[in-house]
Amino acid sequence: MPADVRDVVIIGSGPAGLTAAIYTARANLAPVVLEGEPSSTSDQPGGQLMLTTEVENFPGFPEGVMGPQLMVNFRDQAERFGAQLHTVKASRVDFGQRPFRIWVGDPDAPAPTWLANSVIVSTGAQSLMLGLDNETRLIGHGVSTCATCDGFFFRDQEIAVVGGGDSAVEEASFLTKFASKVTIIHRRDELRASKIMQDRAFANDKIEFHWNGQVSEIIGEDRLEGVVVTDTQDGSTERLDVSGLFVAIGHKPNTDLFDGQLDRKDNGYLVTVPGSSRTNVEGVFACGDVQDDYYRQAITAAGSGCMAAIDAERWLETQH
Ligand code: NAP
Repeated sequence: MPADVRDVVIIGSGPAGLTAAIYTARANLAPVVLEGEPSSTSDQPGGQLMLTTEVENFPGFPEGVMGPQLMVNFRDQAERFGAQLHTVKASRVDFGQRPFRIWVGDPDAPAPTWLANSVIVSTGAQSLMLGLDNETRLIGHGVSTCATCDGFFFRDQEIAVVGGGDSAVEEASFLTKFASKVTIIHRRDELRASKIMQDRAFANDKIEFHWNGQVSEIIGEDRLEGVVVTDTQDGSTERLDVSGLFVAIGHKPNTDLFDGQLDRKDNGYLVTVPGSSRTNVEGVFACGDVQDDYYRQAITAAGSGCMAAIDAERWLETQH
């Protein structure tokens, strides 16, 4: 058993988790942050911003800032006030007993690695990807999963969006503010998106549809140069010369760890009490993309991390 019980353990280290760390550290709660382990997906220390290049919409950086640098800044700021960061992944949690129990490494180990009076969950979400060669490497170099973040970089260019749901259609409509042409590549011949979004897209002169198409190859060395689309009906292929590819085929919140412990919505996102970061377990708070299937921005994640820190602090006060 770990000797001491920590007041706050934060699981996850994107903008939400690290903002919670800054606030709880400055409240003298000596937070421990389990920041995750390096990987090629957004499920890693720093979260989704580690997979982006320039971030131009995070307030306070009039010249923009590189995503990974922004996360170094967050991290340094949290450590400056005494947050303890550990580059490990939580492998199991038990929120059924107090103090709460958190394992790192072997989930079947009899003793947990950490005991905590309160836990802040900020494990984020991942964009679903096509799983093609070059896809991850070219993120930030033509391949993107966020039109709000990156649309601005594609002024007067021809780009494509993959997917047929509300996200794809909404992103395509948004991207027509910048791009000269947006091709929606969808693997079927009808959209999944809501009727109103479809109508808006069909009426938009800048949007073209490539039906029954599956992106099968992403071309480019240092930057995206084009994609190969395979016809899902006859197997024929076609190359599209696009400088931007927005993958909008859905998101997956990183909530498997909390299965059976915290309430989740049908789409897997954690449930929080509206207007707060409280989960169904008193003393466990959730912030950032793990509980946000709507805004999904670094700044909203950071804001909700601040909420979680204040919720945790006030809740701890009522307990001590
Ligand atoms: P979604 O509804 O699950 O749609 C995903 C789309 O991607 C589908 O069209 C699917 O094709 C396609 N797809 C999935 N895997 C693929 C693959 N490997 N290769 C190619 N295509 C693939 O996801 P979403 O659009 O992100 O929406 C998620 C939820 O958020 C939905 O409930 C949606 O209504 C909601 N949302 C609402 C708004 C809004 O109201 N403003 C905006 C965005 C999202 P198939 O159709 O063939 O399955």
